[in-house]
Amino acid sequence: MYPSIFNDAIGPVMRGASSSHVAAAHRIGVLARDYMNGDFHSVLVEYDPNGSLEPTHESQGSDMGLFCALMGWDVTDDRMEVAEDHLKAAGKMVEIRIVDYGASHENTYKLTLTSQTDQVCMIAISTGGGMIEVIEINGVKLSLFGDYYETLIFGDCPVVTADYVLERDGLIQVKSQTPLENLPDGLVVRTMAPVLPIGARKDMCVPFTDSVEMQAYNADKGLSLWELAVKYESARGQISEETVFEKMRAIVQILDRSIEQGIKGTAYEDRMYPAHAPRFKEKMASNAFMDLNLYNNVILSVTALMDVKSSMGIIVAAPTAGSCGTLPGTCLGVANALHMDEDQKVKAMLAAGLIGVFIAAKATFSAELGGCQAETGSGSGMAAAALATLFDADLETCLGAASMALQNTFGLVCDPVANRVEAPCLGKNVSMAGNALSSANMALAGFESLIPLDEVIVAMHKVGQAIPCELRCTGKGGLAMTPTGQALYKKFNC
Ligand code: SF4
Repeated sequence: MYPSIFNDAIGPVMRGASSSHVAAAHRIGVLARDYMNGDFHSVLVEYDPNGSLEPTHESQGSDMGLFCALMGWDVTDDRMEVAEDHLKAAGKMVEIRIVDYGASHENTYKLTLTSQTDQVCMIAISTGGGMIEVIEINGVKLSLFGDYYETLIFGDCPVVTADYVLERDGLIQVKSQTPLENLPDGLVVRTMAPVLPIGARKDMCVPFTDSVEMQAYNADKGLSLWELAVKYESARGQISEETVFEKMRAIVQILDRSIEQGIKGTAYEDRMYPAHAPRFKEKMASNAFMDLNLYNNVILSVTALMDVKSSMGIIVAAPTAGSCGTLPGTCLGVANALHMDEDQKVKAMLAAGLIGVFIAAKATFSAELGGCQAETGSGSGMAAAALATLFDADLETCLGAASMALQNTFGLVCDPVANRVEAPCLGKNVSMAGNALSSANMALAGFESLIPLDEVIVAMHKVGQAIPCELRCTGKGGLAMTPTGQALYKKFNC
C-alpha cells in the first residue's frame, strides 16, 4: 500500500495529545460502532499488560478517543473528554480491563460491543500518526485499514462489484470504493464505511515511491518538490491536482488558527505545564532575552501548537499529535514572520508531506516502534524540506535539507514524564525545529548531505528498532523514571 500525504503524513485534524492513542482509537471506535449500526448496550475495552497502551491508555487519550467515536462524535468534538460520562448517561455499560491476550503488537486495542442480538469483538493495532489496521473480528483474522467500504458477508457471496472479494474463515470480506447495493434480502452482512480521508483502490499506481525514483521521474520535467508532491497525491488518491492543493490550504488555515489561539493563551486544568506561548510572546516583545531572530518566532509557534494540544484544542497530527509543533510551527512560524502568502505556506507543507510519505513507506511515525526520532525527528526532516521550499530551493537542495535534518535525530528516545505528551515533548519539538532551521540553512548554503535521503530513512528505522523498549513510549525509562518523574506520575495518575 502506498502512503498518502493526507492519510499518513499530514493529518488527521484532531483534538488531544497523541494520534496513536486518540485519533487511532477514534477510528477503531467508528468502525466498531458502524459494524453494530450504532446499536449496543455494553462496551468492553481490553489492553494487554505487555503492550504500551496499558500504562498510557488513559493519560494519552485512547479511552477518550474510543468513547468519543462510540458516541458518534467527530474526533474534533469538544465534548470528547466527557464522552465516557455521556455513554454511561445513555445507559451503556462501560468496562476497561487489563488482560494478557497475547497481543502481537505494542499498540493493540481489543474492543467488544454487545447488543441484545449481536456482538463485535474487534482487535486492531495503531501503527502511528493515527493510522490503524483491524486484524481480527470475532475471531476471524483479516486486514482492514479503513480506506475502503468494507462489507462482511456471512454465507454465500452474491455477485458484487468490488475491488477485492476475500474468503476468510467463515465470512467473505468485500472491499469496495462505494457501498454495495442491491444485496439479496435475507443475506447477513455487516458494513463499515472508510475512516481515512484518502481511499484505496485496486491497481493503484503512483509516479514514484522514493526519492531516487522521484528524481528519475523528474529528470525531464524540472518540477520542484511541492509540485511533485501534488502529482504524487493526485495519483495516489485519484483526485485532481487542484483538490490536493486546496486540501492542504484547509490544513494550513486550521494550523494558523491554532497558532493564534495558542499565542492568545489556553486554559486547561489537567496538564503539567502552564500555557507557555503567551509568556514567550511577552518576553519577545520586551527584548528580555537573546535575539535569535527567526528562531524565536519558530519557538513561539511550536509552543503555541503544543499548548493547544495540551489543552485539548484542535491540532493537526503532522506527522503525529506528539510532534504537532515541529513541522507546522517551524514552517508557519518562518512564513508568518516573513509575511509570506498563503500559497507559499501550502507549497511548503506539500513538500513536507511528500518527505513524510517517503518516511512512512520505509520507516514509521510510531514512537512505540521508533522512539521520538520517529515523531519529532521525522517532523524535523519534513520541516527542513518545507523551509527550503519557502526559499524556492531546487529539488536536490530540499532533499539534502531533509536528509541532513533526519541524520541529526538518530537515537532520540521517547520517555514522556507521567505518561503525558508534555515533557520532554515540548522541548523536543522546539529543538527539532531548531534542527530543521539549521539543516535547511546548511542545505541552502550548499552543504553536502552526503548520505541520500532514502538511505537515511532506512538507517533511521533500524536505529529506532534498536532503541530499548523502555525508551519507546512505555513510560518505563529515561526522564519518566527519575524521582521527580515518578512523583509527577503519582500526582497526575493516582
Ligand atoms: S517524547 Fe517524543 S515521541 Fe515521546 S511522547 Fe513526547 S513527542 Fe511523542
